[in-house]
Formats: sequence, C-alpha cells, structure tokens
Amino acid sequence: MRYALVTGASRGIGRAVAKRLAHDGYAVLINYQRNEKAAQTVKEEIEAAGGQAELLRFDVGNKEQVESALNGWREAHPDERIHVLVNNAGIRRDTLMVFMQDCDWQQVLDTSLQGFFFVTRALLQPMLTARNGRIINIASISGVNGLPGQTNYSAAKAAIIGATRSLAKEVASRKVTVNAVAPGFIKTDMTAELDEASLKQMIPAGRFGTPEEVAAVVAFLASDEASYVSGQVIGVTGGLG
Ligand code: NAP
Repeated sequence: MRYALVTGASRGIGRAVAKRLAHDGYAVLINYQRNEKAAQTVKEEIEAAGGQAELLRFDVGNKEQVESALNGWREAHPDERIHVLVNNAGIRRDTLMVFMQDCDWQQVLDTSLQGFFFVTRALLQPMLTARNGRIINIASISGVNGLPGQTNYSAAKAAIIGATRSLAKEVASRKVTVNAVAPGFIKTDMTAELDEASLKQMIPAGRFGTPEEVAAVVAFLASDEASYVSGQVIGVTGGLG
C-alpha cells in the first residue's frame, strides 16, 4: 500500500486532493488542525468509495506536534512509509502592510512556511533512503505575482516556491521530485467572502476554479508518469497571471 499525507485535508483543496489520491489508490492520511467533524466526513467519504484513510491531527506550524504525530504514525506502521506528501495547509490574514499586526504576519508564515519545513523534513529521509517520493507544495498565484493586502501570504508562498526549486535540485538524484502548484481563485472557505462577481471579470476563464481542478494537477505530479517533472511551479489559474 502506498501512503499519501495531505496537510489541511479536512476542507477545500486539501479535501479534494485527499479524495482524488484515494481514488488513485493511495491510503490517505488526512491531516487537519481543528475541524475534526469535517476531517471525519472526508474519511467516511473515502471509505464509502472503497478507499483507505486515517486521520492525523496536528498543527503543521508546531514542530513538537508534527514530530510527535509523524513518529507515532511510524511506530504504528513500522513496515510502511509515506510516498506522497502534499503540503497544502494554509491560511490568509489579509490586510494592507501599514495595518498589519505581528500576529497577521507570524501566523501566515508559521502555517505555510514553517509547516512546509517541519513536515517535509520529517518525511524526507525515508523518501531518500527508498529512492522514491513525491513532494507537492500548494503555493499561490499570490506568491508568483503578488496581490495587494497579501504581503504576508505572498511572502510565505514565494518562499515555498524558492524552497521547492532548491529542494528539487537537492533530491533529484534520489528519484524524489518536488513541485509546486500555484492556484488562482478557487472556490473554498478561504475565498467564500470575496466578491466573486467582480473578481471573475479579471480571470480569462471568467470563473473561479474548483478544488477538483487543483487536485487533478496534484494527482498528475504524484503519479509515476511525472517522474521527470521536478522543481516546477504549475499554475491552475484559469489563465490569470
Ligand atoms: P481552506 O478551505 O480554508 O482549508 C484550509 C485547510 O487547512 C483546512 O483543512 C484547515 O484545517 C487546514 N489548516 C489550516 N491551518 C492549519 C494548521 N496550522 N495545521 C494543519 N492544518 C491547517 O483553504 P483552501 O482554500 O482549501 O486552501 C488550501 C491551500 O491552497 C492553502 O495553502 C492556500 O493558501 C492555497 N490556495 C488557495 C487558493 C484559493 O483560492 N482557495 C488559492 C491559492 C492557493 P481545519 O479544517 O482543521 O481548520
């Protein structure tokens, strides 16, 4: 059995990625921070479709929680390893820089950037030893082009893109690939309060994307067919950017 860990899989893009990877035959580890009920629903949906899933609760930005959860999983599965890691957990705390509080800056970096570091470092060694692995980081168009009101979020996502490119070069010889997916506007809780009617006028496709459209790209990058794709940033933006 091949295992895939999807961080922030209780809702939105992570939920769609978890369901898609389960459909593609992976046993999925559903990480979440608070929303136990939503995470449990994802697990039940995967199992109802004939797939395999388990819940793994931890705050990706908390080193102790990450290490304790992943060490616990390893002890419970001594003969297994995680083949695919999708670093998806993320939050936004949008505000203009002149009004930005320390906590707005810190919480966004802790979740996206520290989360990427703690979880990836914990899973990297077994991938290198096995000479096989897939790391897929969910960045954002905001980390590529920048968006006003998102200096914290853009900084975190741009850093993830830089880390993706560097790590890809470090581990390519061990057959571990590292890529980033940069979504534009996707219909999830994160974008629920945005003015979709006016924003979609600037999107060439004329609409927000769906979580499933992001999950399809992640599924490709996770697949054996993507073995020669590494260090790339793939936009899923409906032509925006
Ligand atoms: P969402 O609907 O708000 O869901 C966020 C998910 O992340 C939830 O499962 C949440 O868990 C989890 N999470 C948040 N903080 C966490 C933490 N510290 N530790 C573990 N899990 C945590 O967000 P989304 O729209 O699906 O976004 C997913 C990713 O795509 C994010 O990285 C986001 O930046 C990126 N993205 C989204 C869009 C978009 O338009 N939606 C565009 C570009 C990039 P709980 O349910 O437990 O709270």
